[in-house]
Amino acid sequence: MAARGTPSGPGKTAPRLINDLLDHDPRNEFKHGRNLLVDPGRKFNFGRGPTLPHRKDRLDCRHKLMRKEHQTNTPRVEEEPDSSTEYKVGAYCTACLHHFDITANFWRRNDRKTPCSLSDEFNPLHHFLLAKSQTAKEHKEKYGVNKYDLFIEAHRFVCSGSECPLQLDIKISPPRLNHIMLSYILDPAKLDIRGQREIKNDPERYHGMSPIKPLQALGYLRQYLVDAKGAKSKTELRKIARRNKKYMLTFADECDELFEYLDFKPIEEASPEPEEGPNCFWQLPIITDLNRNFIDDVVYEIDLLMARRPMDEGPRVIVNHVPVLKDIERSLGCLDYPTRNRTVDLSADEHPCYISLGAVYDFTDRLLEWSYERQCECDPLNKPYYLDCLEDLATGRQSADLQLRVVMATSAGEVGQKAIEDSYRFFNLDPDSVEGDEHIMGLYKSRIESAPRQKDAARDCLLTIAKHRKSEKIEALANDRTMSFEDALEFLNVPADTASDSIEAAAVALSLESSDKAKIARALRVIANQRSGDFTLQRAAASMESGTGGSTLDVGDAYHRLQIGTRNVPDEIVFTYYQSLSNGAPSGSKDSYSEALRVIALDRQSNFLLRKLEDPNADVQAGTAEPVGLDNIGNTCYLNSLLQYYYTIKPVRDMVINFQQHRMSLNDEDIKNKRVGGRIVDKSEIIKAQKFVEELHNLFENLKTASTRSVKPTRELAELTIFSSAAVADFRRASISSPHGPPSLSSIMNGPVYGPQWPPPPPPPLPTTLEEDIEMVDHPRNKNAENGDDSSEATLVDLEQLPPSYSETTGNEESSPGADAVMVDGEDASPDKSSASEKPPPIPPRNKSGLVIQTNENKDLLPNDELWKFGSQQDVTEVIGNVMFRLQCAIKPTSIEETSGAQIDIIRDTFFGANTVYTQKALSLERKTEAWPSIIVFPGKVGRDIYEALDVVYDEQQVEIDNTTVPQYASLSKLPPILQIHIQRTDFDHETHRAFKNRNPVVFPETIYLDRYVDSGDPNSAIMRRRRETWGWKERLRTLEARHTALKNEQAQISVPDALLATKDFVSNLQEEEIEGLEVDPALPEALEERISEVAAELEAITGRIDILRKRIQGQFVDMREYEYKLQSVFIHRGEAGGGHYWIYIYDFEHDIWREYNDEWVSEVKDRRTIFEHQGGAGGTPYYLVYVKSSDIKNLVEAVCRDVQEVQMTDVTEEWPDLVENGVSSGANEDEDSSETRHIEHAKPRPLRPKPAVLEPTSAWEDAWKGSEDFNVGVSGPNEGDANGRPW
Ligand SMILES: [Zn+2]
Ligand SMILES: [Zn+2]
Repeated sequence: MAARGTPSGPGKTAPRLINDLLDHDPRNEFKHGRNLLVDPGRKFNFGRGPTLPHRKDRLDCRHKLMRKEHQTNTPRVEEEPDSSTEYKVGAYCTACLHHFDITANFWRRNDRKTPCSLSDEFNPLHHFLLAKSQTAKEHKEKYGVNKYDLFIEAHRFVCSGSECPLQLDIKISPPRLNHIMLSYILDPAKLDIRGQREIKNDPERYHGMSPIKPLQALGYLRQYLVDAKGAKSKTELRKIARRNKKYMLTFADECDELFEYLDFKPIEEASPEPEEGPNCFWQLPIITDLNRNFIDDVVYEIDLLMARRPMDEGPRVIVNHVPVLKDIERSLGCLDYPTRNRTVDLSADEHPCYISLGAVYDFTDRLLEWSYERQCECDPLNKPYYLDCLEDLATGRQSADLQLRVVMATSAGEVGQKAIEDSYRFFNLDPDSVEGDEHIMGLYKSRIESAPRQKDAARDCLLTIAKHRKSEKIEALANDRTMSFEDALEFLNVPADTASDSIEAAAVALSLESSDKAKIARALRVIANQRSGDFTLQRAAASMESGTGGSTLDVGDAYHRLQIGTRNVPDEIVFTYYQSLSNGAPSGSKDSYSEALRVIALDRQSNFLLRKLEDPNADVQAGTAEPVGLDNIGNTCYLNSLLQYYYTIKPVRDMVINFQQHRMSLNDEDIKNKRVGGRIVDKSEIIKAQKFVEELHNLFENLKTASTRSVKPTRELAELTIFSSAAVADFRRASISSPHGPPSLSSIMNGPVYGPQWPPPPPPPLPTTLEEDIEMVDHPRNKNAENGDDSSEATLVDLEQLPPSYSETTGNEESSPGADAVMVDGEDASPDKSSASEKPPPIPPRNKSGLVIQTNENKDLLPNDELWKFGSQQDVTEVIGNVMFRLQCAIKPTSIEETSGAQIDIIRDTFFGANTVYTQKALSLERKTEAWPSIIVFPGKVGRDIYEALDVVYDEQQVEIDNTTVPQYASLSKLPPILQIHIQRTDFDHETHRAFKNRNPVVFPETIYLDRYVDSGDPNSAIMRRRRETWGWKERLRTLEARHTALKNEQAQISVPDALLATKDFVSNLQEEEIEGLEVDPALPEALEERISEVAAELEAITGRIDILRKRIQGQFVDMREYEYKLQSVFIHRGEAGGGHYWIYIYDFEHDIWREYNDEWVSEVKDRRTIFEHQGGAGGTPYYLVYVKSSDIKNLVEAVCRDVQEVQMTDVTEEWPDLVENGVSSGANEDEDSSETRHIEHAKPRPLRPKPAVLEPTSAWEDAWKGSEDFNVGVSGPNEGDANGRPW
């Protein structure tokens, strides 16, 4: 824009200039060291430095400009200027009486032809740059004093539009009548003295007259001047006789100076009576080009002065002042420019960013954007500052368009002034530093050497400086630091799917050879970030960066250093403390704060803090919105999975957390009536159960409120969860009786314990010393079980009279042990012996819990670690049964079931379903209903889907009752809200007589429909007809498959057709060789040939029919979708029987994510195939599935339930009491009644509010004006600007 002599520097759009003209009080030009009209606004500091001085003084005049009719020549409406145009506006201010002469000419700069216009997208408004100025002093020196041209200042502006010819002159003049001259006629006292004197000198002449008032004096003077202006010619001019009575009273001889100043001319004429001396006159001024405007101006001033006179001075002429603002706007081409539609309080000061951009507050976003661009063009040196301005306004206006413009500028490499200053300060440099590039690069290098963790921040700052300085050298250095995920893998020489610990090992190995530890750490960090939440790698990266592998700083000291009084605060608060201390701290202390934060982050294992430490803007969620992990407390197998699972089941969680409301009372009457699963329970069982729920309560409170990423279940809880009382008693007995010390649980249980896959053991031998014990145990179902422990079988006989725990039978009561046995597995009763391998020997009865309870409770914990040491795996169904039993014992019933007297409660309502078993006897169809907490299914010989697995439970089968084989099937007569399916993977090898883990897949979808199993109560209902049809198909399918198997003869690895073919070849060879004595039927090969094709045809036909049948079976129920269930949890076991690792996947319905809960780690599952493809392989097998009734999901499950304690931050410099200690000490004596008061330690610290301002983003603008008392007026509304009403 500097072309063709246009000045450069910041400019002002026409509306801005007009606004500044109105604000500029020429009397105070240098009051603030700047001229509002011509100087650019002060640079806003965005709240980072001292507050800006106010722009205007309150006494300054905001001009009210009126038109001087004869000095104004403005465009007519709609007129566009051309290259000969000149507009003039003469104006005066009714407040300060100054004169303003504005001339806009379009002809002087005649090399430009196209004035800016609102219709021109690129030049909608004139944008004025100051070309030159002249002060009164300069003018006086040059031209001397000239009363016709008395001025204060004059300025020339030119428009920056490249084709715009506009040149604008603004001249500001003081009032024509100065105070001294005016005092002759405006001072009532002077006038009074003057009048009294004249009257006294000649009382006769002035008889009846009194002194003149200022209003009249002004009126006389005005009249003279108006007469003078109106005179057509010199000759017409009146003379004023100075002896005139009115003149004498008003002016006498004392106002000669005034009259002469106003160009009145004194005239003397010889008097007809010489003794009286000459007659004196004032000739009215002769109006010439020279004084025309001068006299004109004086009249305007007199008008204004008259208007100001007190009313008691008499009536006056009302003069109509005509506002001139629109004339000015029209002349400057900005009348009716497009504006934002908003109300703005004009008394409020404008946001300084508008002024800096040469814009005004009511500009549209588009005009503002244009102003920014034009300002950058004209004043490129300050581009970064203008970007900050635009950004601030974009934020204040909440304008997406402007924000986009900011983003565009940023992505085009522009940087804001703030960023530049921050970047220099990061290196302790002055933003105006004249240091060379090399110096800055050196600072960068030494900084990242001494504080490697600041590397990223240092790099960003260096890049900004590079851009600011346009230094390629610096930029190259800064850019040498990016590392992609692939780069990182390559650098560490590991494939993408390498396990975290192996990557860490690779990095450590590399660090032994390489000195570039920072780069290794960086690579680890990049990989860790890519694998979101991989704490192992984050920690490895952190320790690699610290160089020593760990800090010597103690965790307590770290908290102290960050001035955090209590450790029990959420991650976010820790980070806030860190930030508030670190911001603005010198770089040395910054490092020490970083160290403290890192120590805390590692101690808490907080991925959030580590990521934030590395990059404060990192998009990581604090742990407080995520579920909490559970530390592994030893060989507790699926304990953690189970606890996490129960925590997500709302009815259980709510009950446990509000346990006091549900607690079973311990009065004898209630206990007497209590039946859990139909069984009487005694007081000690209830007390133990309540202890269990209290422990669970504490854990749940921790899961809810912990600010750490994981918590630790207590040993007590683990024991109470996993071991039924009987199991513990067994262990004790065995350890007493064995001469070789305590045996492992597994040895007690007759064989290796294989984790949850392992079937519940047969009951252990009961020593006679414990005969008073009442034990409830599984009924041994399979008398021919391979583990046959005859002594235990014998003891169990008398126990069988006890009611079974979770297999209550109601209705047609004819339950024989035989009928129960059938329930184990539908295929069990199949005559086909080949299915026997699917039947694990000592499996529990269908859905029996395997619960073993004894009433001889021992309150002590297990005495030693032996039980844990020797493994604690029990069947998951058994443990779940134990948990449910304890929960039910601990709580009071909601009602009592009439038929059995069993208690109905929250647990039962949530988990229990029921089957009705139909047995076709000779004379009747008998039905029997049994409730269950879970369904047990089997993976089968080749794997199946979940329906095929469930079919085994519900399909018709042949059972033997009273030596008669009869059909029997089951229907689902009560649908549980939470459906638990145990996939029983323990299988038994009949040849080796060993149990093994059946890894065959059970394919389970996220949604299942149970319609096909639902009991209709009518054996001939539509659903039953469909079921029977399916059973028929399955029967045929089994026959076909058997035939197919036989023909394929897969076990011998040669199919029947192949065998025949081989036989045929053999026979043919025999024939050809014509061996002596061997007769071969000549028809045989042919017959064989025929047979071969027959068999092949049969195989093909069978295959086709099998296909059709399978499709039919699969499609039979697909249209029935009323009883929908959604998958909620998947328990996984990895490894072999007897050990391995357990974790659980839980679905978060609210957020539509699956999480993996793997002991202390809870992480999102990004690829869901990892859950559904855990089938068969070594990766892990699902062994327990939980489905939730779709229609009630919201009330049944909730994955995330967090309520992290909000801990107060006081002033960080304050000494601060240990809240936790206080909380505990005030929380009653735990020793007195530990079971009642245990959870009090979770009482919340007093709720307090964090203090640091960083938590609440405030606008820099607002900060800057805080405490500026002069401007606390005119708030325009909550969203109309900042708190002080300064509009954006
Ligand atoms: Zn004024
Ligand atoms: Zn222009």
